[in-house]
Amino acid sequence: MTTIQGYRRIPGYVLHAYGQYYRLLKKAHPITLTFSVTSRCQSNCLTCQIGERSQKGRFKQNPDLTLAEIEKIFNSLGPVYFFNVSGGEPFLRRDLPDVVDLAVRLLQPAIIHIPTNALAPEPIERHCRDILNRNRKKGLKIPLTVKPSIDGVGKLHDYIRGVPGNFLKLEETIVRLKMLEEDFPEFHLELGTVISKYNIDHLDEIEDFVHSLGVQSYRNEIAEERAEFFNKGSGIAPSAEIYERVLQRFAQEIKNHLSEKRALTRVTETLRLKYYDLAVKILKQQRQVIPCYGGISNLHLNFDGELWPCCVLGYDHPLAHLREINYDVQAALAGSEARKVLKFIHGRGCYCPLANQWYSNVLLHPPSLWRVILNYFLVDRTGKKV
Ligand code: SF4
Repeated sequence: MTTIQGYRRIPGYVLHAYGQYYRLLKKAHPITLTFSVTSRCQSNCLTCQIGERSQKGRFKQNPDLTLAEIEKIFNSLGPVYFFNVSGGEPFLRRDLPDVVDLAVRLLQPAIIHIPTNALAPEPIERHCRDILNRNRKKGLKIPLTVKPSIDGVGKLHDYIRGVPGNFLKLEETIVRLKMLEEDFPEFHLELGTVISKYNIDHLDEIEDFVHSLGVQSYRNEIAEERAEFFNKGSGIAPSAEIYERVLQRFAQEIKNHLSEKRALTRVTETLRLKYYDLAVKILKQQRQVIPCYGGISNLHLNFDGELWPCCVLGYDHPLAHLREINYDVQAALAGSEARKVLKFIHGRGCYCPLANQWYSNVLLHPPSLWRVILNYFLVDRTGKKV
């Protein structure tokens, strides 16, 4: 599948999401499925406690889903546009290529994305190669993006991630994945920073380092307090005002280079501009500034089979536990528990700037989508709006 063929599927997902939102349709047909494939992680991040808990054996009572269980779940869900792998550390799962294989067969994603802590460079490269080769054997060139985390340069990175030597491993991972980009045009290396109070004063240094490596794609997202990360009340996020200043700079950077980008990249970059705008408003006004379609346009499958509307609500507001209802996603969403959670979300009982979710929300909000289209056409070659 090419990227253009993938984009053509989006209107179908959007119409279906409206149908579900207004209760005309019951069946789940999300744009994005995020799947935390494992609870295991070797990191001890200051912004997330999954690693520490997994190393202490806190998830022993909730083992990772097996391949057979995953197959049943994917079978009941059907196609998604975006298969977003999460963790723990996804590459610790030795059968990760088999998991992705199941997704390719049963979910038919147009894009696959995998983040990593970059602590195991050789297995990361090996698994990626395996995934790409398997897709090629099926005659598929599904875009695969792998995003190592970079939260600082040198010792700052090791401090935030809680593992001495992590930065050296990150550098090795980048070298290996850059070589993979040469072998597979459908493979994309992307670096990502979680902006927290620990690195807010070092963002220029990180960005300069990323550009010095010649890595084309670099993404930032704000550190969030999420049920998923067991970090609620930790105060890791910078204030809305500081975040606004940082985002204004990122937005200008995007505008400066927008006209140089290929048409499809321009689409995602203009979408990102709108997201930045909304994220600041959400943080300042502390409410859903446009409706959130969490649990409809996006679903999150946790490692043990719990189904969430999003990772922010996670354990606090699960839709269902799929191990208890024969791994049936459609039955889960028709259940009373799921209906209660969806009512809570659609009554604007929660708010957050979760990037993946808000990209979908923009697609589903005509005035915001119109702004994206205007930005696409109105940003002139100097990056200023005409
Ligand atoms: S607003 Fe945030 S917390 Fe609420 S459902 Fe949407 S993504 Fe989840």
